Amino acid sequence: MDKQLFLAIFLIIGIFLAEGWFPFFKRPSKKKRLKHTGINMIFGIGNGIITKILFTVSTVWVVRWAADHGAGLLRVITFPLFMQGVIAFLLFDLWMYWWHRFNHEYKFLWNFHSMHHTDTEMDASTAFRFHPVEKIISALLMLLVFVSLGMDLISFSIYSFVVSPIILFHHSNIALSDPIDRFFRHFIVTPNMHRVHHSKKRPETDSNYSTVFSVWDRIFGTYKEVDDYRAIVFGLEKMRQPKWHTVKGMLWTPLYTAGILKEG
Ligand SMILES: [Zn+2]
Ligand SMILES: [Zn+2]
Repeated sequence: MDKQLFLAIFLIIGIFLAEGWFPFFKRPSKKKRLKHTGINMIFGIGNGIITKILFTVSTVWVVRWAADHGAGLLRVITFPLFMQGVIAFLLFDLWMYWWHRFNHEYKFLWNFHSMHHTDTEMDASTAFRFHPVEKIISALLMLLVFVSLGMDLISFSIYSFVVSPIILFHHSNIALSDPIDRFFRHFIVTPNMHRVHHSKKRPETDSNYSTVFSVWDRIFGTYKEVDDYRAIVFGLEKMRQPKWHTVKGMLWTPLYTAGILKEG
């Protein structure tokens, strides 16, 4: 089995068990929890297959083209290899911040991204809950980012390798004590920091966009804390009914958010 896939499965199972042992929010029932995880995972697996089919060849081609033509910001000044890797990592994380922020600020993108926010029980499986169209647009723009930055596939693999456990971790329903969470969020995005982002209150939803490093939210003025993290209610006010949490309802979410679909 692919080493990365093995690690991903190992991580998912580990976090799933930890969420069961030390939950931040108590879940209504084990059966409901499994159903919730299963539905979110259908999107994770589906999106993984779609992007693999559509973008594996094009990504390799684009990265090679940029290398052959000396294109990209990272090729303007030559740093030692390690520094080059660190700069690539930071710039890509900066791109992720802005991509996420655009998804909230541009109505067209929000129509798709809202599906990530309709989850009323955020846990690690929410990290897989993305509309396929959002994933496709993201992958298309990423091709442009690869060329603009002159990013090589090794740097991108390192970023993906680091980002996956962090995304799973900050979506997780693991009860981390507040001082520990507070300490870690000086550096990275923690569960409490991302819980604010999944709050049903729109000013809180439109904050804490960072993916790996929390510094971007502090720099661009979108960092938010709340007094009581346990008082956060997840989801979107108008989409709490069960019909929005089925595979069909989730796929149709953009039509409702866009106002095209009036009834479920
Ligand atoms: Zn968001
Ligand atoms: Zn999220």
